[in-house]
Amino acid sequence: MAEAAILRVVHCGSAIFCRRAPPRCPACGRPLPSGLRGAPLRVPTPFRHGHERGQRRRLLLRAAGARDFLRGYDGNSDLHVGITNSNGVVYHYDEEGIHRDETGWEQCISIPLVQPDMFELLEQWDKLLEEFSVGEAWLPHRYDEDAHNCYTYALAFINSILTTLGKQQMSKSEFTEKFVIPHTKRASKYITLHQELSAKEFYIVPLPEQENQC
Ligand SMILES: [Zn+2]
Repeated sequence: MAEAAILRVVHCGSAIFCRRAPPRCPACGRPLPSGLRGAPLRVPTPFRHGHERGQRRRLLLRAAGARDFLRGYDGNSDLHVGITNSNGVVYHYDEEGIHRDETGWEQCISIPLVQPDMFELLEQWDKLLEEFSVGEAWLPHRYDEDAHNCYTYALAFINSILTTLGKQQMSKSEFTEKFVIPHTKRASKYITLHQELSAKEFYIVPLPEQENQC
């Protein structure tokens, strides 16, 4: 988990990604300006510790099998999904039935599910999640890798919440496009940077015209 941050420096029309800012631009060889103007920015990590306070009542996505996005995740492997309650316990469904994990979700993509102003829902969340999870639909023998899996469980729970709120349910594709893909895209960009920087010191990407300031 203790990877050095990825930094981004802009120079001579390129974004230079690195773990440590170099004294000279690796693209043009000129010294990088010192001070705030040329200061490298930290690329925010798209990953969250799923059991921590800030990640409550969320949908979590974890690299299935690899357990870690930055080590061994190839970008195509399956994701495993779960939902957190308000104590950092992750509920998820697989061929063994429902799990309530207190560890194991330390590196996740985390997607908020409720607005902070939904007080009533916040209070009932744990009860709703627990009651939903003991349903017959989530017994181990009902599991099917393609048709009745972790994703089916999470989406069905989200839809039960939407129904409680008097809102319209979401189809799988609607949910994937609106909620999941924007987050996984950001994560896969970060994984690419991480992989490039495991092999070399710099990763240089030419910038489009309008971002080209130096
Ligand atoms: Zn340069």
